[in-house]
Amino acid sequence: MDHVVLTGDRPTGPLHLGHYFGSLANRVRMQDEHPMYVLIADYQVITDRDRPGEIQANITDLLLDYLAVGLDPAKVTIFQHSAVPELNQLMLPFLSLVSVSELSRNPTVKDEIAHSSQAAVSGLMFTYPVHQAADILFCKGTLVPVGRDQLPHVEVTRLVARRFNERYGEVFPLPEAVMGERPLLKGLDGGKMSKSRGNAIALKATEDETAALIRKARTDTDRLITFDEERRPEVANLLTLAGLCLGRKPRELADEIGDGGGLALKRLTTDAVNDFLRPIRARRRELSAAGVRRVLEEGNARARERAADTLREVRDAMGF
Ligand code: ATP
Ligand code: MG
Repeated sequence: MDHVVLTGDRPTGPLHLGHYFGSLANRVRMQDEHPMYVLIADYQVITDRDRPGEIQANITDLLLDYLAVGLDPAKVTIFQHSAVPELNQLMLPFLSLVSVSELSRNPTVKDEIAHSSQAAVSGLMFTYPVHQAADILFCKGTLVPVGRDQLPHVEVTRLVARRFNERYGEVFPLPEAVMGERPLLKGLDGGKMSKSRGNAIALKATEDETAALIRKARTDTDRLITFDEERRPEVANLLTLAGLCLGRKPRELADEIGDGGGLALKRLTTDAVNDFLRPIRARRRELSAAGVRRVLEEGNARARERAADTLREVRDAMGF
């Protein structure tokens, strides 16, 4: 089978280390192997908040982050929901293929409702996994590089594809999730590192900002640094971050720090993160906002053609 890769991010803020080790590194690797679509999921911003916020600035930030980490617009189609109406139309037939109780059982949706800033849970919050099925299936995506929180959504997509095929004939392949080196990187507060939870180290943060964020992270009072995810989650989390950035085992780093305490641990982590991100940050500074916007316009046009083909096929299969 010829694979097609689809992934995406919500334009709710700049990308962070969780994205890098959860998904971006895989994308950069896979862009040489398969056709790839990267979605800026602008409509999904309003799943858990009442207004889209600084949406244009956030979209530019995402584009800059993508190109800075090494996504190549010559190989990858970068596009946004709101520019591809044909993709969004797929959501209508797809919604008819899942039940309300299937939607309300989704564990990621439950977690996001718990962290939502909305007074009431919107219909879009419940149904956005079906929208994500449209995201993946519009280009007949087969491989989906994502973090662990997205696994239930890829399951919904498989369900939608399977049921569509059963009801209307073989149109869609069943996609698979591809998880990164660290499918769930924790933030500086111990919860999932997230753009919207104030616990993330952004790829674009300055070295000083990075140092300040890590300085604020909680540790414990035991000066002997050990890697124990159960009993010392905060310390283990910093060791994990440093280990990912250095390409080394957290346990080895703990042995090296020995009884240097939290301060030495934070110094090592800060240096590891800043050294790792330095070339990415340097590339980002060389890019222009106007240049990356052109990349998006070209990607939108390509994605629209692809979506129109799939929508036509879907309507034909349904006899519309
Ligand atoms: P928000 O807080 O606005 O939801 P987010 O940080 O969760 O932002 P998304 O745009 O929702 O980021 O997710 C984009 C992709 O990055 C998804 O594939 C998701 O699984 C992955 N991802 C996000 N956070 C992490 C993390 N902490 N570890 C690994 N992967 C992650
Ligand atoms: Mg999220």
